[in-house]
Amino acid sequence: MSLASEPSAPATSGDRDLTLSQLEKTYANGFTAVHPLDLVVPQGSFFALLGPSGCGKTTTLRMVAGLEIPTAGSIAIGDIDVTYEKPYKRPVNTVFQSYALFPHLTIAENVAFGLKRRRIKDVARPVAEMLELVELSTQAGKKPTQLSGGQQQRVALARALINQPEVLLLDEPLGALDLKLRRGMQMELKRIQTEVGLTFVHVTHDQEEAMTMADTIAVMNAGRIEQLGSPAELYENPQTTFVANFLGQSNLIKGVVKGSDGSGDGEVVKVDMQGTLVSIPRGRAHVASGAGWVGIRPEKVLVAPVGEPLDAPGNHFTGGTIVDTSFIGVSTQYVVRTSWGQEIQAFEQNTGARGVLAPGTAVDFTWRPEFAFLLPADQDATAGIEED
Ligand code: ATP
Repeated sequence: MSLASEPSAPATSGDRDLTLSQLEKTYANGFTAVHPLDLVVPQGSFFALLGPSGCGKTTTLRMVAGLEIPTAGSIAIGDIDVTYEKPYKRPVNTVFQSYALFPHLTIAENVAFGLKRRRIKDVARPVAEMLELVELSTQAGKKPTQLSGGQQQRVALARALINQPEVLLLDEPLGALDLKLRRGMQMELKRIQTEVGLTFVHVTHDQEEAMTMADTIAVMNAGRIEQLGSPAELYENPQTTFVANFLGQSNLIKGVVKGSDGSGDGEVVKVDMQGTLVSIPRGRAHVASGAGWVGIRPEKVLVAPVGEPLDAPGNHFTGGTIVDTSFIGVSTQYVVRTSWGQEIQAFEQNTGARGVLAPGTAVDFTWRPEFAFLLPADQDATAGIEED
């Protein structure tokens, strides 16, 4: 199989899925870094393990790589159990943040390394294909120090991919790059993964990075997966306060469930939110009764000076005041003090339709009910904020 020239397989579940079953790691000091974890990474998908520092994502990756022995549970690729297989015998390769290139070898020699070690003689063609894939054909004769950080990272990628692993593990691979380079490399990584069609498991604490590249994200917190889904599912319908805050920002407002209305897809949960009855679609309400946090993303909150029309058929809140205005070019970020004394955020695109509202402006605000979500009141409303 030629990785570089064959069309990619679609990211669908296949018979070579990576399956973690009740996988657990307790270190010698008694600390459990990964609680029993069940996860299926579909063959050919770009999968991200996302979470703050210390949540156990690297430990999970190292167990898949064979660099850490699990305390319990199993790891399988397809129906082959690799839990206790030696690292070099697994169809798995890892790309680290530190590129770990051999400084005395040329770029082409670095890329050829895995093939030479396996005593494969004819390396010229696969190396040329790999360098083409990562767009470094013209750099083949240089030494690693003569390349930029982003180029070195692409060499590390080519060096791993040439071994044709079934699963490529990426441990914060872009962490050492500056922001602009990182954005460019995110697009590159996604293109390469689509082109080769291999399973990529990417570990990162950067939510934007995970959302840009991954088909599916598992959000990890304190050794457990909090929620798993596509970037849009996680963002639009978080199931915990940690996910609501760690992926982007959320306004969380106390409320009490009063009942429900309608049926089927149209069913809504009615919540008394600070004296106003608001509706939340049943599929986004993760509380059946009692108290809860009504969640709404800042860009979904529409604000207008008192007396001006609000462009949403939602719940209408009066008595707000702008207390802070941050103009950041593409949008303006407002902090609004509500009539019940809470400060909430509202982000408005700078379409030019209206000028920027100054602090002190009396405003009304609203949102479309379909964008709200409801989370359990016993969860910490600030979970996930400080880590982001
Ligand atoms: P980071 O992004 O900072 O690497 P992470 O989410 O990848 O964080 P891990 O490196 O998996 O987290 O570590 C998870 C937890 O396990 C941390 O609290 C860490 O201190 C702890 N830990 C890691 N290695 C060991 C070890 N060898 N012995 C004891 N505890 C460890």
